[in-house]
This record gives sequence, C-alpha cells and structure tokens, in this order.
Amino acid sequence: MLTSLKGRSVIVTGGSKGIGRGIAKVFAATGARVTITARGEESLKKTCDELNRAGGTVRYEICDVSDWDSVRAMVDSTAKAQGGLDVMCANAGAFPQTKIVDMDVAEWDQVLATNLRSAFLCVKAAIPHFDRAGKGRVVLTSSITGPITGFPGWSHYGASKAGQLGFLKTAAMELSRYNTTINAVMPGNIYTEGLQDLGQEYLDTMAASIPLKRLGAVEDIGNAALFFASDEAGYITGQQVVVDGGQIIPESLDSLGEI
Ligand code: NAP
Repeated sequence: MLTSLKGRSVIVTGGSKGIGRGIAKVFAATGARVTITARGEESLKKTCDELNRAGGTVRYEICDVSDWDSVRAMVDSTAKAQGGLDVMCANAGAFPQTKIVDMDVAEWDQVLATNLRSAFLCVKAAIPHFDRAGKGRVVLTSSITGPITGFPGWSHYGASKAGQLGFLKTAAMELSRYNTTINAVMPGNIYTEGLQDLGQEYLDTMAASIPLKRLGAVEDIGNAALFFASDEAGYITGQQVVVDGGQIIPESLDSLGEI
C-alpha cells in the first residue's frame, strides 16, 4: 500500500481523454487535488464533472502544451488555485500517422512541439513551484514507439517519444537541485479515444501481438504514474518503465502461438 497522496496538488496535461483521464482518475481516487488540461473545453468539462461525481477534487484549465505562454499561465494559476504544485504529469500528446515520403515539415514540427517541446515547457514552468515547496515530482508519458519499436507513419512520433527520454536524463540531474524526481512511463497499446481513431483492424492486430492478449487500460498507466509520484518512489529518478502487457518481448509473432 502506497502512502496516500491525499491533498497533493497534481497537474495532468491531456487529462480530458484517454491516458490522461486515467491518470487523473487514479490520482483523484487517492484524494489528490487534480487539474486536468487540454485545448478542448467540452471534453475537459465532461471529464471534470465525471471525476468530481465519483468523489474527486478536480478542476480544469484550457492549455496548449506546445505554447510557452499557455503552459506557464496554466501552471501558475493551478498552483495558485491548489496552494502549490506537487506533481506534474506531462502526458498530452498527438500521434497522426503519415509516412516520411508524404509528411510535410509543418506536421513534423507540430508533433515534436506537442510531444517533446511540451515536456521541456511543463518542467520549466513547474520548477519555480518545486523550488518554493522544496520538493516535486514529474512523470512523463513516453511510449514504446520510438525508444524501443518502430511503426510506419510514426517517424516524428517515435523521435518525439525517444527525445523525451533523452530530455529525462539531464532533467533528472538538474531537478535534483530542487529535490524533485522525473521519470517516464512507456505505454504499449492502451485503449483510448486516440487509439480508437486508428481503426478496429489496428486494435485487433495489436491485441493479438500482446502476450497478455489485451490492450492496456488507461488506469494501468495511471497506476504506474502514481507509483512514480509516491513517497515510496522518492529515490528513483531519470528512469522509465514499460507498461505494455509484454508486447515488446516476443521475438516473433509465431512465438505467441507457443504460449
Ligand atoms: P488521446 O486519447 O488522443 O488524448 C490526448 C489528450 O491530449 C487529449 O486530452 C487532448 O485534448 C490532449 N492534447 C493533444 N494535443 C494537445 C495540445 N497541443 N495541448 C494540450 N493538450 C493536447 O491520446 P492518448 O492515447 O490518451 O495518449 C496520451 C499520451 O499517451 C500521449 O502522449 C501519447 O503519445 C501517449 N501514448 C499513448 C498510447 C496509446 O496506446 N494510447 C501508447 C503510448 C503512448 P485536446 O485535443 O482537446 O487538446
């Protein structure tokens, strides 16, 4: 049993849907005060209402994580509303699928800004609050795609997710000065709105290639993030954990038939 995060102040970017909603749900269930952020207000409001109805203390802020002014304003106003900041879950991300030959420079830049620049911006905006509190936690949502695996159409996405892990190493050293840890969760295929957009054939193919024979649930990622944010994980920094039902393990698809 982890020490409770009751009353802690938490931000979850991309918290209106999918994995971010799962992370917010897990933290809210422990009694943390959670701010979820995204660009679209309708889904933010819906998720916020849903989590509060379930007993959470959740608010929302509209924020574009690729924009410095937007991130800084969101972090500062959340810290004001929640009496400081204890945990930053930099989760928001996008994964349009376009092969290199068809990709324009604008799409490459947009994906890198949404997924990688955002990690830098969220950490940078949180530092003054962690400095003031004398402690802090950052959890990044990376991916298996990029750092470990590849998939056609996701060269920009893979680069951004591997880039997050490169950022993580030096950030862990620099954040230690503020008694702050930073770690990353690397999800496999998690059943979210974003993944559903890829179509049923994609979902079926992925489920069939996972030793545990199912796509992950958003709470699976929320639980890993909660661990990194817990007091018990206080001596872990600059690390990453794969949460994928064993997807990266098989040497061939045939080997799954041997189970
Ligand atoms: P999702 O269902 O599409 O949700 C994405 C969330 O991020 C939404 O709340 C979205 O809200 C927000 N968002 C997107 N662009 C944003 C921006 N520029 N500024 C602020 N918020 C933004 O995606 P998901 O599947 O939950 O993925 C969440 C994270 O997990 C991403 O970093 C993704 O790369 C990572 N991941 C997912 C999987 C998976 O299998 N699902 C696997 C590995 C890693 P708005 O559009 O309203 O802004």
